[in-house]
Amino acid sequence: MKTANMPEITLYLFSNDLRLSDNSALQAAIDDAHENNNALLCLYALEPHLFNRTGNQSPAMGAARWQFLMASVSDLKNNLNNQQMDLTVSTLGWVDAIEAAADEFTIKSIHVSATAGFYERQAIETISQKYPVKTHDNQSLYVLSELPMTLNELPKHFTPFRKRVEKTDLPAVSATPQRWPDSQRSCIDRWSELSAHASVEGSQFKGGETAGLAHLNQYMASDLPSSYKKVRNELMGWSHSTKFSPWLAWGCVSPRQIMQQLRQYEAERGANESTYWIFFELLWREFFHWNGLKQGSRLFHSKGSDVATSKTPKACEKFIDWSKGHTGVPLIDACMRQLNQSGYMSNRGRQIAASYLINDAGVDWRLGAAYFEQQLIDYDVASNWGNWQYIAGVGADPRGGRHFNIEKQQKTHDPKGHFVKRWAEYDVTTQSVRPSYVLS
Ligand SMILES: Cc1cc2nc3c(=O)[nH]c(=O)nc-3n(C[C@H](O)[C@H](O)[C@H](O)COP(=O)(O)OP(=O)(O)OC[C@H]3O[C@@H](n4cnc5c(N)ncnc54)[C@H](O)[C@@H]3O)c2cc1C
Repeated sequence: MKTANMPEITLYLFSNDLRLSDNSALQAAIDDAHENNNALLCLYALEPHLFNRTGNQSPAMGAARWQFLMASVSDLKNNLNNQQMDLTVSTLGWVDAIEAAADEFTIKSIHVSATAGFYERQAIETISQKYPVKTHDNQSLYVLSELPMTLNELPKHFTPFRKRVEKTDLPAVSATPQRWPDSQRSCIDRWSELSAHASVEGSQFKGGETAGLAHLNQYMASDLPSSYKKVRNELMGWSHSTKFSPWLAWGCVSPRQIMQQLRQYEAERGANESTYWIFFELLWREFFHWNGLKQGSRLFHSKGSDVATSKTPKACEKFIDWSKGHTGVPLIDACMRQLNQSGYMSNRGRQIAASYLINDAGVDWRLGAAYFEQQLIDYDVASNWGNWQYIAGVGADPRGGRHFNIEKQQKTHDPKGHFVKRWAEYDVTTQSVRPSYVLS
């Protein structure tokens, strides 16, 4: 209930930007709080719908993603505590959590990182109808106003985008804020119940800014950037690609921090095609980010593929076999079992598995995209749905889609069958997580 004389606050809504360093949106909230003599309430609000089963659809939040997220939130909370700041962790979702906080505080302004996610932008729109909200481009390499094009002019395909963007200067990286305002905490905090889920045992991917920066430093201290392009298509192995994606997806590390270290690596140890290719791949991420923003809800549209075929019992069976790694095609089953067990799959594996589902099993690509959303620890709305559209031929592929020949892929990328053998024995039904406390 609102009363007179409620404390005035600036509110910072953490989203997929779970870090303190190079967080221009957080810095803007801090500056705002100082300027207006407000305390700062740092809020992370889980969306309960991510844990709901809708019809036959499993919850969007799978077990591995959940574990990585909780570890990231835990690390963020620790890092804030080290600055004498608190983090309120709510399970009410963005809109309701802010409404609840407004019963305790007078919210003078809200700051949040801009997102390409359509539903997240709808929530921000709803919130801005009642409160002053400022959004900040914080998840991409460039801010929109620095791109050499408007969103309307964004090319449909990657290559023209890359050619226009890659010469643009990158924005500077900022450090962890030094001067913090007073901290506020809301009574909607549920962290004491959630913290038990922040364990990271059994995974090489440990969520959080601390682990993400340590991984980035370690990668750039090795020789791996100089050989990245030669090995990036391999199906297994920790060092065949950068493994930056989970930390990027949750914003534990920013793409600019990666680029800053990459430029330093090139200056000290030499630039080559491989070091350039890391930038090239980050530009793919950038392209899909702006493409997702431009497409809005169209990112989830089938554009002509026959959804009805996916609803036939045969297509449903094929989808289930694919998702469990039970297709009988060893390479596909190995890819899917790797995903189900670890929450990660190589880029080549994702392309092959997606192509198989669409082109060989004849299933609506959106079922595959939704399944990846649930399972991938690096799930990113724009990259995931954009890549699926690309392979299905309804998105940014100038060649109108990709159909991979599985036999050829097996011969090229797993000629001795090591990858297939590694996952042949692994066969469990996918577990999904539905933590009841989030819904109560
Ligand atoms: C069907 C499909 C679904 C995908 N879903 C996602 C997703 O949800 N989240 C996600 O981050 N990536 C997704 N990707 C892209 C890519 O597979 C992963 O980014 C990559 O495998 C992550 O491993 P890495 O960090 O070692 O990549 P690296 O090869 O080391 O690349 C470095 C970084 O570049 C970016 N990148 C590389 N390839 C792509 C690409 N094709 N599209 C966008 N960014 C790229 C990533 O941020 C990555 O961390 C998907 C690809 C396919 C084909």
